[in-house]
Amino acid sequence: MKISDIRRAIDSAQNARTDLQGHTTQEFIAADVSARLGRHIETLSALQIPARYVEELRQRSVAIDALARMLDRWQGLRAAEATKSAASKASPIQFLPFGSGPEARKLGFRFDREYFGTQADALKAFAGQDVLFVYGPELASKPDCFAFGVYRRQQTQRLKCTCCGASHFGRQWDNMDTGYGLCPACVDFCAARCEPEKMEQTYGVRGVHYDLPSLALV
Ligand SMILES: [Zn+2]
Repeated sequence: MKISDIRRAIDSAQNARTDLQGHTTQEFIAADVSARLGRHIETLSALQIPARYVEELRQRSVAIDALARMLDRWQGLRAAEATKSAASKASPIQFLPFGSGPEARKLGFRFDREYFGTQADALKAFAGQDVLFVYGPELASKPDCFAFGVYRRQQTQRLKCTCCGASHFGRQWDNMDTGYGLCPACVDFCAARCEPEKMEQTYGVRGVHYDLPSLALV
């Protein structure tokens, strides 16, 4: 491979990054950064650079690191944006019947604490928060008072794919090891080899814990 080709590839990767730096945060989030930078990372990684080109080897590694950091930032911003828009579209606070803890978890909520009081008290105490309530036993001491389970919506977070190891955003499912999930690229592969029930038991709910719709590109 010619040295001029190597330099051109490194320059063009750096230019792609500089280009994206000139955007506002909103434009940056909206851009398909994954495709734009991913291509350069692949090209740079595939370059056969002879060991004597020490400076080019160094520049390549600096460029790949910089692109990966930018990609990381983009993925983080996209995930935050998706969480924010999900919260703003949130339906009114729900009350689920006694024993619905597992349902709450399938909706992407996690047990936070107990709350004792009437339904109206609970709504007031948690107004504006992304929570749902699961009815517990009625309290004998006060009329209309219950022990509610308060479940809070889980944030999306960076997870490692249990199948291929790729970094992606999803919600931690209780049956997965901490920090692990299923990345969008592996969903079809795993679904083809797994009963739907087993799929849910293992990976959680599609669109809630993995394969989040607004993060299709991540
Ligand atoms: Zn995967």
